[in-house]
Amino acid sequence: MNPEYPNLLIVDDQPRERIALRTVLEPLEVNLFEAASGQEALALLLRHSFMLVVMDVRMPVMDGMETAELMRKNKATSSIPIIFLTAYDKQELSILQGYQLGAIDYMLKPINEDVLLNKIDVFARFYRFEREREQEREQERERERQAAELRRSNEELLRFANIVSHDLKEPLRTVRGFAKRLIRRHYELLDDEGREALEFMVDATGRMSQFIQNLMDYSKLDGNLAFSPLDCNALLGTVEKDLSAVITEAGCTLHIADLPQIYGSRSEIMALFQNLITNAIKFRKPDKPVLVGIQARENLDSWEFEVSDNGIGIAEDQHQRIFEIFRRLQSASSTEGAGIGLAHCKRIVELHGGQIWVESEPGKGSTFFFTIPKSAE
Ligand code: ADP
Repeated sequence: MNPEYPNLLIVDDQPRERIALRTVLEPLEVNLFEAASGQEALALLLRHSFMLVVMDVRMPVMDGMETAELMRKNKATSSIPIIFLTAYDKQELSILQGYQLGAIDYMLKPINEDVLLNKIDVFARFYRFEREREQEREQERERERQAAELRRSNEELLRFANIVSHDLKEPLRTVRGFAKRLIRRHYELLDDEGREALEFMVDATGRMSQFIQNLMDYSKLDGNLAFSPLDCNALLGTVEKDLSAVITEAGCTLHIADLPQIYGSRSEIMALFQNLITNAIKFRKPDKPVLVGIQARENLDSWEFEVSDNGIGIAEDQHQRIFEIFRRLQSASSTEGAGIGLAHCKRIVELHGGQIWVESEPGKGSTFFFTIPKSAE
């Protein structure tokens, strides 16, 4: 038995005929089954799945036509094709001719081997075609199942994020507000330790608010982005202005080459650049002025952007993992952040139909690449 091959059932009450048929069909790439009666055939048909039945019409007890009739009544066997083998008998022939509904064929005895093999070949080709179609339909159903599951889990994530956002932000704002008020109004009453503790509180609650906001932004990101033509030079100008305080504070120099016009979501592409530039600054080497370079290269059907820095770099085994949500590297645990930034970047790029990856050497710096397809236009 070869599980790759389809099954073919020979039904004949005469052992000699079955052997003869088996000899003819042996060279075919099929698994041959034999039944000596209609009942035996029906039992086998229910136990295995068959591509085809080659059945003698004349058999005692239950003849071929009765067997076929019963096969038609059962959903599991109703569409299995049958080739009837019949002696030249007028009555039988006229029934068979009128019976040519669906996948039924017949052959006169004595059998012409070539004709039989030809007929089987036609059924086998049809069977393979149907199987492939069924596999495609199954794959399609699987894709639909996965898409539905993804939609469901996205909705769940969004609901979860909404709850987290609402229930956490409010008390956080209160704590932050009171800590600020204490610093403002009772500054003189506090000693250095007290002031420092309150400043830590303000800082930490600010970071947490930002984290919640990032989480919200990430979870709200879905396929319904509004795309428009974007001039990346102008867009980077705005990003640079938005980040000017951080850039100046870090003494960062930005080298922005001439950039193309792309088609995408303005707010998300801005967030993408903002994240990458902020990371370049965040993960800088303490003793070195930060240099960030941004440029783009034209590929056949996409624009390939790169954002490079001279920061601490990323170990090779982390190059994939940093794009997973909440994934931060050990060495970065002292730096602010929650590990959403790059997951967000990846989502943005993928929603634009592109890819994102990093090349980096620890101690030397990192270059983040991403592509935005031109076809999106
Ligand atoms: P976060 O910045 O909030 O930690 P990200 O998703 O933006 O989260 O980044 C994930 C991790 O990837 C960071 O914690 C850091 O370890 C590493 N990383 C990201 N950008 C850089 C960079 N430019 N240089 C070095 N490491 C980086």
